[in-house]
Amino acid sequence: MTQNSSGRKRPNILITGTPGTGKTTTAAALAEVTALRHINVGDFANEENLTNGWDDTFDCYYINEDLVCDALEKLMEEGGNIVDHHACDFFPECCFDCVVVLQTDSSVLHERFTKRGYSDHKLATNTECQIFQALLDEVKENYPDDILVILRSDFLEDITKNVETLTSWISNLSPAV
Ligand code: ADP
Ligand code: MN
Repeated sequence: MTQNSSGRKRPNILITGTPGTGKTTTAAALAEVTALRHINVGDFANEENLTNGWDDTFDCYYINEDLVCDALEKLMEEGGNIVDHHACDFFPECCFDCVVVLQTDSSVLHERFTKRGYSDHKLATNTECQIFQALLDEVKENYPDDILVILRSDFLEDITKNVETLTSWISNLSPAV
Protein backbone atom coordinates (compact mmCIF):
# COMPACT_ATOMS: atom_id res chain seq x y z
CA MET A 1 0.00 0.00 0.00
CA THR A 2 1.41 3.38 -0.89
CA GLN A 3 0.15 6.90 -0.44
CA ASN A 4 -1.11 8.51 -3.63
CA SER A 5 -0.45 12.09 -4.58
CA SER A 6 -3.96 13.32 -3.86
CA GLY A 7 -2.88 15.81 -1.20
CA ARG A 8 -5.47 14.49 1.26
CA LYS A 9 -4.25 14.80 4.84
CA ARG A 10 -6.06 11.67 5.90
CA PRO A 11 -6.68 8.62 3.73
CA ASN A 12 -9.90 7.38 2.19
CA ILE A 13 -10.43 3.66 2.57
CA LEU A 14 -12.98 1.55 0.73
CA ILE A 15 -14.11 -1.59 2.52
CA THR A 16 -15.89 -3.85 0.09
CA GLY A 17 -16.82 -7.52 -0.26
CA THR A 18 -19.81 -9.81 -0.69
CA PRO A 19 -22.73 -9.02 1.65
CA GLY A 20 -22.18 -10.70 5.01
CA THR A 21 -18.37 -10.67 4.92
CA GLY A 22 -18.28 -8.13 7.77
CA LYS A 23 -17.84 -4.78 6.01
CA THR A 24 -20.05 -2.81 8.39
CA THR A 25 -18.72 -4.51 11.53
CA THR A 26 -15.11 -3.94 10.42
CA ALA A 27 -15.68 -0.36 9.22
CA ALA A 28 -17.46 0.61 12.45
CA ALA A 29 -14.68 -0.89 14.61
CA LEU A 30 -11.99 0.80 12.51
CA ALA A 31 -13.79 4.15 12.68
CA GLU A 32 -13.95 3.88 16.45
CA VAL A 33 -10.22 3.28 16.78
CA THR A 34 -9.03 5.78 14.17
CA ALA A 35 -11.71 8.49 14.41
CA LEU A 36 -12.11 8.32 10.64
CA ARG A 37 -15.64 8.83 9.30
CA HIS A 38 -17.61 5.63 8.59
CA ILE A 39 -19.82 6.06 5.55
CA ASN A 40 -22.19 3.16 5.00
CA VAL A 41 -23.13 3.94 1.41
CA GLY A 42 -26.45 2.10 1.56
CA ASP A 43 -27.53 3.93 4.71
CA PHE A 44 -26.26 7.26 3.37
CA ALA A 45 -28.18 6.87 0.09
CA ASN A 46 -31.23 5.92 2.06
CA GLU A 47 -31.01 8.84 4.49
CA GLU A 48 -30.37 11.34 1.69
CA ASN A 49 -33.07 9.88 -0.53
CA LEU A 50 -30.63 8.93 -3.28
CA THR A 51 -32.25 5.57 -3.98
CA ASN A 52 -34.26 3.96 -6.76
CA GLY A 53 -36.26 1.20 -5.08
CA TRP A 54 -35.37 -2.02 -3.28
CA ASP A 55 -32.78 -4.53 -4.53
CA ASP A 56 -34.02 -7.88 -3.34
CA THR A 57 -30.84 -9.72 -4.26
CA PHE A 58 -28.47 -7.65 -2.19
CA ASP A 59 -31.07 -6.73 0.43
CA CYS A 60 -30.60 -3.00 0.11
CA TYR A 61 -31.90 -0.06 -1.88
CA TYR A 62 -30.75 0.44 -5.46
CA ILE A 63 -28.68 3.51 -5.04
CA ASN A 64 -28.47 6.35 -7.50
CA GLU A 65 -24.73 6.10 -8.04
CA ASP A 66 -24.21 9.49 -9.70
CA LEU A 67 -26.09 11.34 -7.00
CA VAL A 68 -24.27 9.49 -4.22
CA CYS A 69 -20.89 10.29 -5.82
CA ASP A 70 -21.85 13.96 -6.12
CA ALA A 71 -23.13 14.09 -2.55
CA LEU A 72 -19.93 12.53 -1.19
CA GLU A 73 -17.54 14.55 -3.36
CA LYS A 74 -16.65 17.19 -0.74
CA LEU A 75 -16.10 14.64 2.03
CA MET A 76 -14.00 12.46 -0.25
CA GLU A 77 -11.85 15.43 -1.26
CA GLU A 78 -11.35 16.25 2.39
CA GLY A 79 -10.24 12.65 3.16
CA GLY A 80 -10.53 10.62 6.34
CA ASN A 81 -13.40 8.39 5.19
CA ILE A 82 -14.05 4.70 5.54
CA VAL A 83 -16.51 3.88 2.77
CA ASP A 84 -18.46 0.67 3.36
CA HIS A 85 -20.18 -0.77 0.28
CA HIS A 86 -20.65 -4.06 -1.60
CA ALA A 87 -19.86 -2.51 -4.98
CA CYS A 88 -16.94 -0.36 -5.97
CA ASP A 89 -17.18 0.44 -9.64
CA PHE A 90 -18.87 3.81 -9.43
CA PHE A 91 -16.31 5.63 -7.29
CA PRO A 92 -13.50 7.31 -9.26
CA GLU A 93 -10.16 5.56 -8.82
CA CYS A 94 -8.53 8.63 -7.29
CA CYS A 95 -11.03 8.60 -4.40
CA PHE A 96 -9.21 5.88 -2.46
CA ASP A 97 -5.79 5.36 -0.92
CA CYS A 98 -6.62 1.79 0.02
CA VAL A 99 -9.26 -0.68 -1.17
CA VAL A 100 -9.94 -3.54 1.22
CA VAL A 101 -11.74 -6.64 -0.02
CA LEU A 102 -13.08 -8.84 2.78
CA GLN A 103 -13.34 -12.52 1.99
CA THR A 104 -15.21 -15.17 3.92
CA ASP A 105 -15.25 -18.91 3.37
CA SER A 106 -18.45 -19.68 1.47
CA SER A 107 -19.71 -22.24 4.00
CA VAL A 108 -19.24 -19.70 6.83
CA LEU A 109 -21.02 -17.10 4.73
CA HIS A 110 -23.83 -19.54 3.98
CA GLU A 111 -24.35 -19.94 7.73
CA ARG A 112 -24.42 -16.15 8.26
CA PHE A 113 -27.05 -15.78 5.52
CA THR A 114 -29.15 -18.53 7.07
CA LYS A 115 -29.00 -16.66 10.39
CA ARG A 116 -30.13 -13.50 8.58
CA GLY A 117 -33.14 -15.46 7.31
CA TYR A 118 -32.33 -15.00 3.61
CA SER A 119 -34.58 -16.68 1.04
CA ASP A 120 -33.07 -19.65 -0.87
CA HIS A 121 -32.64 -17.46 -3.94
CA LYS A 122 -30.89 -14.64 -2.11
CA LEU A 123 -28.76 -17.14 -0.21
CA ALA A 124 -27.65 -18.86 -3.42
CA THR A 125 -26.94 -15.60 -5.27
CA ASN A 126 -24.88 -14.12 -2.47
CA THR A 127 -22.96 -17.33 -1.78
CA GLU A 128 -22.18 -17.65 -5.51
CA CYS A 129 -21.01 -14.06 -5.50
CA GLN A 130 -18.35 -15.03 -2.94
CA ILE A 131 -17.47 -18.35 -4.59
CA PHE A 132 -16.80 -16.66 -7.91
CA GLN A 133 -15.03 -13.76 -6.23
CA ALA A 134 -17.12 -11.31 -8.20
CA LEU A 135 -16.16 -8.41 -5.96
CA LEU A 136 -12.46 -9.10 -6.23
CA ASP A 137 -12.69 -9.07 -10.03
CA GLU A 138 -14.58 -5.80 -9.89
CA VAL A 139 -11.96 -4.25 -7.62
CA LYS A 140 -9.11 -5.45 -9.84
CA GLU A 141 -10.80 -3.92 -12.87
CA ASN A 142 -11.23 -0.56 -11.15
CA TYR A 143 -8.21 -0.01 -8.89
CA PRO A 144 -4.45 -0.45 -9.13
CA ASP A 145 -2.94 -3.53 -7.45
CA ASP A 146 -0.78 -1.50 -5.08
CA ILE A 147 -3.74 -0.11 -3.14
CA LEU A 148 -5.58 -3.44 -2.96
CA VAL A 149 -5.66 -5.38 0.33
CA ILE A 150 -7.40 -8.74 0.64
CA LEU A 151 -8.34 -9.72 4.19
CA ARG A 152 -9.99 -12.90 5.49
CA SER A 153 -13.06 -12.41 7.65
CA ASP A 154 -14.11 -15.88 8.78
CA PHE A 155 -13.92 -15.59 12.57
CA LEU A 156 -14.42 -12.84 15.15
CA GLU A 157 -10.64 -12.80 15.81
CA ASP A 158 -10.19 -11.84 12.15
CA ILE A 159 -12.10 -8.61 12.75
CA THR A 160 -9.74 -7.61 15.56
CA LYS A 161 -6.72 -8.60 13.48
CA ASN A 162 -7.96 -6.76 10.38
CA VAL A 163 -8.74 -3.61 12.37
CA GLU A 164 -5.21 -3.73 13.83
CA THR A 165 -3.66 -4.18 10.39
CA LEU A 166 -5.60 -1.27 8.93
CA THR A 167 -5.07 0.98 11.96
CA SER A 168 -1.33 0.51 11.76
CA TRP A 169 -1.36 1.27 8.03
CA ILE A 170 -3.38 4.45 8.67
CA SER A 171 -1.05 5.60 11.47
CA ASN A 172 1.96 5.11 9.24
CA LEU A 173 0.32 7.21 6.59
CA SER A 174 -0.90 10.01 8.85
CA PRO A 175 0.95 10.10 12.19
CA ALA A 176 -1.62 12.46 13.70
CA VAL A 177 -4.33 9.74 13.72
P1 ADP B 1 -21.70 -6.77 5.70
O1 ADP B 1 -21.71 -5.33 6.11
O2 ADP B 1 -20.49 -7.13 4.87
O3 ADP B 1 -22.96 -7.23 5.06
P2 ADP B 1 -21.86 -7.28 8.55
O4 ADP B 1 -20.75 -6.50 9.15
O5 ADP B 1 -23.23 -6.69 8.62
O6 ADP B 1 -21.51 -7.65 7.02
O7 ADP B 1 -21.82 -8.73 9.19
C1 ADP B 1 -22.81 -9.70 8.89
C2 ADP B 1 -22.96 -10.65 10.08
O8 ADP B 1 -21.81 -11.47 10.19
C3 ADP B 1 -23.10 -9.93 11.40
O9 ADP B 1 -23.99 -10.67 12.21
C4 ADP B 1 -21.71 -9.96 11.98
O10 ADP B 1 -21.70 -9.94 13.38
C5 ADP B 1 -21.17 -11.28 11.44
N1 ADP B 1 -19.73 -11.22 11.15
C6 ADP B 1 -19.12 -10.34 10.34
N2 ADP B 1 -17.81 -10.58 10.26
C7 ADP B 1 -17.57 -11.66 11.05
C8 ADP B 1 -16.39 -12.42 11.38
N3 ADP B 1 -15.18 -12.11 10.87
N4 ADP B 1 -16.54 -13.46 12.21
C9 ADP B 1 -17.73 -13.77 12.72
N5 ADP B 1 -18.90 -13.11 12.44
C10 ADP B 1 -18.82 -12.07 11.62
MN1 MN C 1 -23.20 -3.80 5.71
